[in-house]
Amino acid sequence: MSEKSKGEILKEELFFKAKNGFETLSEEDIETAYDFSEGYKKYMDNGKTEREATTETVKILEANGFKPYKFGERYNSGDGVYINNRGKYVLAARIGSKLIDSGANIIAAHIDSPRIDLKQRPLYEDSGFAFFKTHYYGGIKKYQWLALPLSLHGVIIKADGESVTINIGEDANDPVFCITDLLPHLAKDQYAKNLGDAVNGEGLNILIGSRQFKDDKASEKVKLNILNLLNEKYGITENDFISAELSLVPAEKARDIGFDRSMVGAYGQDDRICAYPPLMALIENKNPEHTAILVLADKEEIGSEGSTSMKSFIFRDFMEDVYNQYANSQGGIAKMFMNSKCLSADVNAAFDPNYADVYESRNSAFMNNGVVMTKYTGSRGKSGSSDANAEFVGYLRKLFDDNNILWQTSELGKVDQGGGGTVAAYIANHNIDVIDLGVPILSMHAPFEIASKIDIYMMYKASKAFYC
Ligand code: MN
Ligand code: MN
Repeated sequence: MSEKSKGEILKEELFFKAKNGFETLSEEDIETAYDFSEGYKKYMDNGKTEREATTETVKILEANGFKPYKFGERYNSGDGVYINNRGKYVLAARIGSKLIDSGANIIAAHIDSPRIDLKQRPLYEDSGFAFFKTHYYGGIKKYQWLALPLSLHGVIIKADGESVTINIGEDANDPVFCITDLLPHLAKDQYAKNLGDAVNGEGLNILIGSRQFKDDKASEKVKLNILNLLNEKYGITENDFISAELSLVPAEKARDIGFDRSMVGAYGQDDRICAYPPLMALIENKNPEHTAILVLADKEEIGSEGSTSMKSFIFRDFMEDVYNQYANSQGGIAKMFMNSKCLSADVNAAFDPNYADVYESRNSAFMNNGVVMTKYTGSRGKSGSSDANAEFVGYLRKLFDDNNILWQTSELGKVDQGGGGTVAAYIANHNIDVIDLGVPILSMHAPFEIASKIDIYMMYKASKAFYC
């Protein structure tokens, strides 16, 4: 081998160099990353909505000794607690050995994903079929949801107040539901439309049956037959849909992707891919110095409004309550918030060579290159973004490098190509240092999103290092 020139040596010292995990990680680490994804896939299959993700998360927390948080109660360092807010939001915490006015380390992800919700009066019959009317939730490309097996999830609150949990289409023996698509042979007019207009919102009607109730006199016999089946199984009537929250999501399970099984494909990886890794980190870190908090919020996909969203005061109520039990410093609650740090754990777009022209490759996230740090989001000149402080980026950069965590930085696509936001801005409003950190994914918001096993594992390692 010829010796390196001075220029080559200097280049190595001075230039930024992207690192791919398959080049830099040991075979053992890669194996560990693959193993970690097994638990992750299970978590994804068991929690396809914010309600199910909450139930699944609480189950995991309780199995690991976490107890429901009681406001006003004093806990000991190392105690694990959680708040289940209305069955759609989880705040879990491990009390630190230091007083909380020295700051908490917070990771906040969201557990809601784009999907198709039923309207309050969904059921109707048309031309021998029964359908559900829907109103989609979050940013979907509507055409992606046609001709796809869908499962039904949610709750129905009956007239007498009883709550019925619905989960149909996940078991291999269950029926599934779907939205029909137009055959290409008759799609001349549809082809002429813009992609965004080709399927309209009122067209997302769910096919749910075609069998008639045996009766000579009654009308709407398909609808009647469906209601009769639902009444026999769940004891509900048509009125009960009014007090229900029912959603259609893809029936497909989380799967390995590729001959090399290097990736995971699943519905709703935005953003439950940033929920499971810190959850595991929180459980395993039994004695953090700083109180470690994990928030799994709802409603991010529709603007983070509402009592179960990241904007909900429940987060501040919890922080202040812990403060009131322990701290009595001069700085007060303001000091606690000022000293706290947060990872707004959310996905970013991975560079997709099939759509390379929307990315700026020097500032894109690449799959297998580790967790992606996004200093700012927003659109049209960073508008709406919480642009993280360089000091906080510097802190994390050192933390991650010291802990051998594969990480990278990125922007969401080219300048002025589009844009997006996360919960970071709402956390920053509490005067907490915050930055977006998450897993890069392909096909974001599609019914089947793709992520790298190495990146998922790095999210876990980053969370573990952050909860210190
Ligand atoms: Mn997200
Ligand atoms: Mn999203």
